[in-house]
Amino acid sequence: MHVIGIDVGGTSIKLGVVGEGGQILYRDQEKTPHDIRQMVETLARLAQKARAQYPGAPIGLSCAGTLDTEGNITANQMGWMKEPISRLLEERFGEKIAVENDAVCALLAEHQHGALKGVETGILLTLGTGIGGGLILGGRPVRGHGGLHGEIGHLITHAGGTACGCGQQGCWEQYAAARALQIMSGGLEVKEIMDRVKAGELQELWQRYLDEVVIGLSSLMMVFMPDVIAFGGGLSNAGPIVVDSIREAAQKTSAFRIYCPFTQFVSASFQNDAGILGAAALVH
Ligand SMILES: [Zn+2]
Repeated sequence: MHVIGIDVGGTSIKLGVVGEGGQILYRDQEKTPHDIRQMVETLARLAQKARAQYPGAPIGLSCAGTLDTEGNITANQMGWMKEPISRLLEERFGEKIAVENDAVCALLAEHQHGALKGVETGILLTLGTGIGGGLILGGRPVRGHGGLHGEIGHLITHAGGTACGCGQQGCWEQYAAARALQIMSGGLEVKEIMDRVKAGELQELWQRYLDEVVIGLSSLMMVFMPDVIAFGGGLSNAGPIVVDSIREAAQKTSAFRIYCPFTQFVSASFQNDAGILGAAALVH
């Protein structure tokens, strides 16, 4: 069966028609209108074009932001505050459209086709502007109350630390997201930082950053005893150095040496297509 996966990001809407094995057979893309009704119109137009070639293909949607149990979305980068995305989609399409947060979709993509395929206990971490991701437990993606997804980047690694947008202080993502690395460097671009790290420069900065990543990883290892931790997100664009450095630092912790010597640290399989594949996985 062919499924349409749509990834709504802050700058672009990407559509893909996904085949059984996770191959993307058709692609289309448009800019993301920040008015939610215009955004839904754009989705309808893109979906109609795709369905002209793949009649009746069901649709799943990945969207940046946070969904509540009533199907409302809040996405600061788009200026959306509790917008009724599920209802608007159902009205426009005349059918229910499965919609999920982009972090959950990335997790589903890795679980179905990528680095967490067949894994019993796994964690996906995306290091970007924030820290996202999710958990596979008992071979299944984990959800909380009412199907809500957890906020892995908001475990607290520094009690009483930096104020976070979530309302807490000292959240992991304030210290270990790619954005935090940028701030620690005094404002260099992440690409420049990573180019210089690869050239053997900025080693002290890089180690300090890795320490922050590893504090959170230690807690996650101790709580979940994961078989695999996969790393994705914008920082992964720098290549294998990211996961190799994290692995080396994490393997020095007691959490790894004493409790989790089995944990594997790997790169996530999907970067740009995680949203499309994860959205399609919602209806597979
Ligand atoms: Zn937070």
